[in-house]
Amino acid sequence: MDLAHERYEELERHILAASPGADVQRVRAAFEYANDHHGPQLRKSGEPYIIHPIAVAEIINELDLDQDSIVSALLHDCIEDTDSTHDEIARLFGPQVAELVEGVTKLTRMQYTSREDEQMENLRKMFMAMAKDVRVILIKLCDRLHNMRTLQYQSDKKQKEKALETMEVYAPIAHRLGMQKLKWELEDLSLEYLDPVGYHDVREELDHITTLHAGFVDNMQAHIEGRLSEEGVKCRVYGRLKHIYSIYRKMYSQGKTLNEIFDLYAFRVIVDDIPACYNVLGCIHDMFKPVLGRFKDYIGTPKPNGYQSLHTTVVGRDAIPFEVQIRTWDMHQTAEYGVAAHWKYKQGMANQRLGTERDFEWVRKLLESQQDTDPDEFVRTLRVDMFADEVFVFTPNGDVKSLPAGATPIDFAYAIHSAIGNSMTGARVNGRIVTFETPLKNGDIVEIITSKSARGPSRDWMKICKSNEARNKIRQWFKKERREENIATGRSMFESELKHAGLSLGAITANPELLDILLRRVRCGQLDELYAAIGYGGLSAQKAAARIKEEMTRLGRVERQRAEQEAMQSAVSAGETVYPSAPKDSILAPKRSSSGIIVSGLDNCMVKFSKCCTPVPGDPVVGFITKGYGVSIHRQDCPNADPARRRPEDEGRWVKVSWAQTPDAAYRTSLEISAKDRDGLALDVAMALSAVKVKVNNLSARSQPDGYAMIYLELAVKDQKELTGVINKLSQIPGVFLVKRAGG
Ligand code: MN
Repeated sequence: MDLAHERYEELERHILAASPGADVQRVRAAFEYANDHHGPQLRKSGEPYIIHPIAVAEIINELDLDQDSIVSALLHDCIEDTDSTHDEIARLFGPQVAELVEGVTKLTRMQYTSREDEQMENLRKMFMAMAKDVRVILIKLCDRLHNMRTLQYQSDKKQKEKALETMEVYAPIAHRLGMQKLKWELEDLSLEYLDPVGYHDVREELDHITTLHAGFVDNMQAHIEGRLSEEGVKCRVYGRLKHIYSIYRKMYSQGKTLNEIFDLYAFRVIVDDIPACYNVLGCIHDMFKPVLGRFKDYIGTPKPNGYQSLHTTVVGRDAIPFEVQIRTWDMHQTAEYGVAAHWKYKQGMANQRLGTERDFEWVRKLLESQQDTDPDEFVRTLRVDMFADEVFVFTPNGDVKSLPAGATPIDFAYAIHSAIGNSMTGARVNGRIVTFETPLKNGDIVEIITSKSARGPSRDWMKICKSNEARNKIRQWFKKERREENIATGRSMFESELKHAGLSLGAITANPELLDILLRRVRCGQLDELYAAIGYGGLSAQKAAARIKEEMTRLGRVERQRAEQEAMQSAVSAGETVYPSAPKDSILAPKRSSSGIIVSGLDNCMVKFSKCCTPVPGDPVVGFITKGYGVSIHRQDCPNADPARRRPEDEGRWVKVSWAQTPDAAYRTSLEISAKDRDGLALDVAMALSAVKVKVNNLSARSQPDGYAMIYLELAVKDQKELTGVINKLSQIPGVFLVKRAGG
């Protein structure tokens, strides 16, 4: 038997060991197909090429992925390196496999040469967005892992390039998918080529120190196992040295010596359930002295990539510190294999595991939207759609630009520079001329053709482009370059909108006094300015006409009232009794307010108190004119009212407001109390509140795993003074260390 078949038989044995009784016919067919197609191709190592896809399939099998993934791993270089095609693979192995192989091929074709830091993140996102199916990323990661394991056969230059790319793109993606084991190996392999001297230094020092610590790992492991079995805890304990790159980073970037690194050694205790985790933690802290400030509860607060464990550092034999990670088997699978762990679990997935906090967060979200699909279906449809609203494209010299999904060459041109956009006459995507409407796809290389004699953007571009940036820049151009044209178009748009509203442009412009008032209302000095603003799109004709109409109506009303009053006065002087017929209009009404708030310039308008910071009388406040719900009142120190965070286009909607005198009113607000948890805490809070006679609408208490409690209160008070009294009272309760207003 030749080497290729020998390796394949080995793979098949491993597959059958992992899933006994599996039908491996398709896997064998894929091997034969790939073997035929790669034919006499050799790797740099001198081995037949097929050895590489088999090795990748081995790694995929170790991850316990589905058979489509294994088949695709065997075929993954066929489209790129042989005369095999997508259609042929689809015909022989099904459309799923063809899609996976095609996806891997696309990722292989991309160049991830090192760029500035800000671009690296875009590169990683593009990588993930392009893959669409998460299995494509997993196959590509395994492909890279095997290439890194056999990197010694490549040239120096290639080694450095691949190692850098692995460190900057592949390892962070493995991390994001929660695949620690893969990430560690990628990092250590990369480091060996990126900084061979540093790598070997660390290794030597580690060898030296572990000789000094002879038997430490075995010794501690036996010690921990012994104690836990006495306690009747069912568990497995593993001890190991941390991976080289993590130690290297601490030594070189944090300037520590090996002796200063607390977690050179890491032990894992894996147990059956969460209560056992905390139980083990207690035992460990009882056996060894814990290092202060090193305890972390990632079970209560998982890391963003789904990682969960309890971490603590303790001091062991000969004063050697070591880290202990305590977790359940579920958590362990997720920690080691990340998103891939979910294939291992696919049987159990459809039932009770759904929706528990232990689930990998974004996978869970995907699951929730697919509750009805069966587990296998889920695996097939699991898509990497984390960046669905972005598209990542290259400039001709390899920079990455992130644009909104659906962006066109116009968006791209203006993202580079407004001068490029304004002088654009055409665009090429991946070397082919395209129309301006063409939506860009992830990984496209986009080139803009410009000309000095270009006539500038067209108005239609504003409808075609997807980004506000492009739209604003085009608008700016029209504002500056086309004043005459803007005035003409603006005038006709305005006139037709006025007609719509039943007004005549001629009648308005004929009355200079009226015109003046109306122009001030739309914040323009002259009529031409108004037309120009409408013409370039800075002001909508509809809005301008609506404001004019409003102003006309108001003026009419003022006029009627004046007439009415005059009539009344003349009647009074004539000795008649007169009752005003209708309620007075707001313009004449005295300043009073039923809401307890006075909004400057807008009397008796609808007011609501924002839920984020729940202001009460006495708080410095500010108002925001909402679209359709009146004025919303925020505390001045509310983050949502922070002047630095206001959007420039909203500036005019922030208004001064002040508190009116309104006795007997009560205002809803909320408080957060942090306290050391104890029995009777909530009761004491309730008693304190009843002692100060304040009305409580809601009280909820939550215990935290670390021995603290959070109490959330909703109550109604007259003003800030009363609230301060309540806060003082609550602060005196034993165990309470912080009472603060919610939000703000
Ligand atoms: Mn490959």
